[in-house]
Formats: sequence, structure tokens, C-alpha cells
Amino acid sequence: RPLVGNLIGEDHVNYVLMYNMLTGIRIAVSRCQAKIRRELTDEDFTACHKYSFDIVGNELTPSAKYDFKFKDYSPWVFRDLREDYFHLDPADYLLSLTAKYILSELGSPGKSGSFFYFSRDYRFIIKTIHHSEHKFLRSILKKYYEHVKHNPHTLLSRFYGLHRVKLPHGRKIHFVIMNNLFPAHKDIHETYDLKGSTVGREYPEDKASKNPRAVLKDLNWINRGKTLELGPEKRALLTEQLRRDSELLKQLHVMDYSLLVGIHNMERGNRDNVRSNTLKVFSPEMPLIRRKHTQSKGASSPDAIAMRRIMRESDPQKLGVAVQLPDSDTGERQHFLFYQDDGGLRATNERNGDLDVIYYLGVIDILTPYTSFKKVEHFWKGLQADRHKISPVPPFEYGERFFSFMKAIMRGGEGGARFKAE
Ligand code: ATP
Ligand code: CA
Ligand code: CA
Repeated sequence: RPLVGNLIGEDHVNYVLMYNMLTGIRIAVSRCQAKIRRELTDEDFTACHKYSFDIVGNELTPSAKYDFKFKDYSPWVFRDLREDYFHLDPADYLLSLTAKYILSELGSPGKSGSFFYFSRDYRFIIKTIHHSEHKFLRSILKKYYEHVKHNPHTLLSRFYGLHRVKLPHGRKIHFVIMNNLFPAHKDIHETYDLKGSTVGREYPEDKASKNPRAVLKDLNWINRGKTLELGPEKRALLTEQLRRDSELLKQLHVMDYSLLVGIHNMERGNRDNVRSNTLKVFSPEMPLIRRKHTQSKGASSPDAIAMRRIMRESDPQKLGVAVQLPDSDTGERQHFLFYQDDGGLRATNERNGDLDVIYYLGVIDILTPYTSFKKVEHFWKGLQADRHKISPVPPFEYGERFFSFMKAIMRGGEGGARFKAE
């Protein structure tokens, strides 16, 4: 799926939906934001605030261009997540999402039927989700929240909001707002969506050479002999975080998630300008991740010192919380261990010295519980191929395989070949 969107103007088929989504967010989020902060209660996790929009308007909602209903789920929980754990500035968040009613739509819907929309500045993604995913997120919200709280550097998708639009004829559209892992100001030269499953997990190589934006898969990674080039420090940190994240996913009984890996080659730089068309429309406030001191990354850089400190802290519960970073930067990514180097994680050699590659990593598509549907798929796919190498395996096995695959593909690991189906 290409990572460049088509702009949604007034003539676009989804313009009304887009307008309604953004109007709803603007009103609901600012309403919650205007109140004084308070401690969360258990009810906040199941709360749902309802709004009804029409052309006339009322005391709760201003007049809108169209009639529609809007639901804001667990507004207080997401507010806490955004402000305390995801380090978003409230005004900034709303502005990025709703300043102008223009978003871009990402390619055509995938297998799942979800649509993806980028905010104009490219920082946020709105993903429409299936009703079952919506229900599932609500049911695990408390656990997700606790995980994020104890794992400030989690690689899991950062959910900033969960909402629903209902159109006058009754159609309901559920959606989440999440972080775009890829930065607006850097070309991504290769993209991989890795699951640790190898059956059918290949993007045709002949097509890949013609399409730099292709999302490649596990078999492309293995056959190209790729490795995540990380020195001992970053390797240990990333492994530990992935271990914790996949533990949670096992516990939540989900599967089908992947590690999304975007690779930026610094020597190639941004000359391919893969997203130039989008960028033109999205300027002037383009690059949001501003790092002033990205060059000076020796062993004594603040990041390296912070990382070594974490490595010394033997209590793994403390992973990450010990990091104190300079506040001189703006942009939320500076707060996250794995998104600090120009919004990503810079490759390093065995002496932890910088290499000219930046990785943009995250665990995405984490809302698929192992339902009866998947069980059936597991059964049928398993008749044709190795039951343990196909993508739909039970959550425990999925999580174990996912984590061992990610360890295997890091430098010093055994490589991914063992995961290949014979
Ligand atoms: P399916 O269930 O068929 O895998 P889906 O509709 O649930 O598809 P995802 O797996 O969530 O979609 O994402 C599809 C693709 O969109 C990813 O492979 C990636 O290229 C892009 N994408 C998804 N989430 C993000 C994100 N947070 N940042 C950047 N790109 C993303
Ligand atoms: Ca997916
Ligand atoms: Ca999915």
C-alpha cells in the first residue's frame, strides 16, 4: 500500500465523513480539554460521551455543515494518555488534526477494509476500524493504559482517541487516531511489515524493484539477507521492550500484529522525495520533529549516556523511566527512546557507534483477537502449509514466534531462515 495519500477535497467521496470525523473530534476533545484535570476512575474506562450535530446547533454543539452523531469513548483516559504518556500538546493535537478540513487518504483499503487518513502535517493517522476491533479496544483499554504507564517507551501503536461517527442513514464508522511511525521529513527507502510468519509472506521481488513504496514482508527480509543493525546497547533495549510488548499481546489474546520497519538510508538522504507531492500540499508547517543535535551522537551524547544508565539499572521495571532527555527539542518523539534519532532509531555498530541508517519501528495492527474466525482460518491454512508457520496461529504461539523472529533478525541473531517454510 503506498504511503502517499490522495488529498480529500470537497469533491471526494469521503469528504462528508471526513468533515464529520474532524468536527466531532474538534468539539469533543476541546470540551474534555476545557475541564480541570482529575484522577481517573474506573468509569472513565467505559465512558462514552454523545454528541448530536446538525445545521442549527445547540448548547452542546455548534452548528455543523451536516447532520450526524458523534461518540467520544473514554475521553478522560485518552486525554491522560496523550498528555502524560504520549507527550502531546493538547492545542497542537487539535490543530494538527483539524486546522483545515483536509486530510489525505492512504491508497485503497487493504484486506481488512480499513481506511487510513493522515493529518495534514502527517503526524497522525486516523484508521477506520471494524466494530469488533472497536469493542475489543474498549475491553482492553485499562490494560493498554497500564502497560503504557509502565512502559513509556512501548513500541505498540499509540492510540490517541477512539470515536464513532453515525451518519443519518444509520451507517456507523468507528475509528482510532494513532501515531504515524514514519516522519514527514524523511524518505523511507524500504518498508517491511514483519510477523515472524513466512507462509505467503512475500511481496513479489520483480514488482518491488519498480515500487520503492512497496510494503515488503518477512520472506523479502530473509531472502535479501537483511539484519537490524543495532549495537549491544540498542539491541538490548529494543529486545527488552519487544519482549514486554509481546508479553502483553499474548496476554490480551491477540494475533496478526506486525513490526513495521521503515528504513531511511542517510547516504541516500531525501533526494528521492518520495512524498514530495504530499509535502507540497501539507506545507508550510511541515517538519514537526525538530532535532537540533542529531549529528553529535558519540558515546558521550546525552542519548548514549541515558541508555547506558538504563543498562546499569538492573531492575527491568525501570526500563525507560530513568531517561531524562534535554527539553530543548520540540515534538513528542524526543521523549521516546526508540524515536529519538530524527524521529527514529539510528543503526549502530558493535561499539555502539552510529551507522548511516535510521529505523522507524513500531508494533501495529494490535486489535485482532483470536476469534473463531481466525481459528477457522488457522485450520484451513494449516491444511495446506506448516501449521506453525502460517500467519494465523493462536496468540501465545504467535507472540512467542513474533518475539523470537525479531531477536533472530537483529545483528548477532541467528537470522530468520529457520522461520522459513520448507
Ligand atoms: P490487514 O488486517 O489486512 O493487515 P489493516 O487494514 O489492519 O490490514 P494495518 O496492518 O494496520 O492495516 O496497516 C497496513 C499498512 O499501513 C502497514 O503495513 C503500514 O504500511 C501502514 N501503517 C499502518 N499503521 C501505520 C503507522 N502507525 N505508521 C505508519 N504506517 C502505518
Ligand atoms: Ca496488518
Ligand atoms: Ca488488521
